[in-house]
Amino acid sequence: MTMNKTGRKPLKLLVIGAHPADSFDNAGGTCLHHTQQGDSVTAVILLAGARIHDVVVSDGMRSRTQIPQEQDLKDIMDVRSDIKKKEVKEACAIMGINDVRFFDCDDYIHLVKEKTISDIACLIREIRPDIVITHYPFDNGGYADQHAITGQCVLQATWVANTVAPDDPNPQHKVAQLFFFGFPSTFAKAGSALYREFSGHCAVFVDVSDVIHLKIQALDKMQSQQYDGDCAWKRVEAVEGSAGFGASPRVPYAEPFIVAYSDVYHTLPVSDFRLQTSNEPERNERDRTNFVVTKYGSLENYQAQLLKKYK
Ligand SMILES: [Zn+2]
Repeated sequence: MTMNKTGRKPLKLLVIGAHPADSFDNAGGTCLHHTQQGDSVTAVILLAGARIHDVVVSDGMRSRTQIPQEQDLKDIMDVRSDIKKKEVKEACAIMGINDVRFFDCDDYIHLVKEKTISDIACLIREIRPDIVITHYPFDNGGYADQHAITGQCVLQATWVANTVAPDDPNPQHKVAQLFFFGFPSTFAKAGSALYREFSGHCAVFVDVSDVIHLKIQALDKMQSQQYDGDCAWKRVEAVEGSAGFGASPRVPYAEPFIVAYSDVYHTLPVSDFRLQTSNEPERNERDRTNFVVTKYGSLENYQAQLLKKYK
């Protein structure tokens, strides 16, 4: 058997996002690390996603007195969905994800439906992933939110996939670990009755500083929803950056995850990162966290500058 770069059997990952950008937007850096070490990643986009975050449909039609008739509207949304699919494939390729599947569900009303759960379960039995990553089922209060509904569908599908189905020739499969994206969608802000803070549940952070410049390139592909240009730069500084999710683990840029199943070890686990940094001089921590991709372009450039500084 071919092993991955860590000397282990290659892992199979399945990332399931609600909208076109959700998979790579939430976990792109992590996926790239996995494919770089020889693991495989499949991304699923559940909803066509033409109704929201679209310059033509969600933004352009707001100022009209009347929207196009039913068939015309459908044709426009089909065109916009195809444009988004092309952008998503390009963005995912930058993040090392070359197997991208579109379920093409309508994003008008998204509910926990039997068919959606069954289709995801079939895909799990087909791909047989070790790890599944999706939205947190309580995102935005857990109700009437397309991310939360997606998380709930996937959570149920992981159980259903572990049973046989008469219309599926593939045997059942049990996923080893399920992770939820740690980035909240935060339509419901603190103070709202719907608000449910969950970033405190993030116990796993992936340091994506070495590939954060690629994540900006990937976000830059999503011109249909105006994620490109300054938006991409601002986003990674504010969200993944050391004022966002990088702050708690003390790294420049991190992607946060919530672990669904409590894990089991022979002894107590401690990461190499914790061991290597626990007694580091304060200067090391500053040098590590002071990397700003918008200033230096990439971690590699920043580290070259540091070498010059201390020469
Ligand atoms: Zn989304």
